[in-house]
Amino acid sequence: MSFESLGLSHNIIRSVKKLGYLKPFPIQEQSVPVILQGKDLMGIAQTGSGKTACFVMPILEKLQNTEMKKNRNIQVLILVPTRELAIQIDEVFRAFTDNLKREVRTMAVYGGVSINPQMKGMFGVEVLIATPGRLLDLIDHNALKISEIQHLVIDEADKMFQLGFGEEMNKLFAMMPVAKQTTLFSATLNDKVAEMKERLSINPIIIEI
Ligand code: AMP
Repeated sequence: MSFESLGLSHNIIRSVKKLGYLKPFPIQEQSVPVILQGKDLMGIAQTGSGKTACFVMPILEKLQNTEMKKNRNIQVLILVPTRELAIQIDEVFRAFTDNLKREVRTMAVYGGVSINPQMKGMFGVEVLIATPGRLLDLIDHNALKISEIQHLVIDEADKMFQLGFGEEMNKLFAMMPVAKQTTLFSATLNDKVAEMKERLSINPIIIEI
């Protein structure tokens, strides 16, 4: 199977080629068309499976066909448990934004560093990759809004609970619109992750690799 057959356009394929990806990984074959169709998805996959590109490619594919916004309303929110993962995902987004039809601004925010530059840099950001605690702080400071997000991604959902972010996530869920697309990735499907699925009121397509 080729990247073209997944429904990705030449803008995205050019970045794929530049990264040296020859063909989609199995999880990408299964999940990219589902996300492009706007359906909710839950992928059970480990780090190293190629899960990041599963959501980065279709999200940018869709976003480049929308109008650029100039405000503090985030369009796509990626929630992650750690600073390292936030930085890593932002790098993957940046590797794919070179050849898009229009500029798409992405940003990673996490705790342990000064909040001021993050607040200042937020204007015009469309894809935000964030750890839960720092995101709540930024919202408290009116740096951004998540009430109009179109797409929520939760990466390493099981680790979110291992690190004790359950309560923070529930607070964030309450600030999001009900109508949105949701993509979850988790290494395991445990009770906590199943409970989160209930709380989000989604019935996602489940893909296991
Ligand atoms: P991830 O699980 O998203 O952290 O990805 C693991 C590694 O696989 C990263 O170094 C990616 O750049 C790489 N990768 C992702 N998709 C592909 C692909 N289709 N072909 C080759 N390498 C890939």
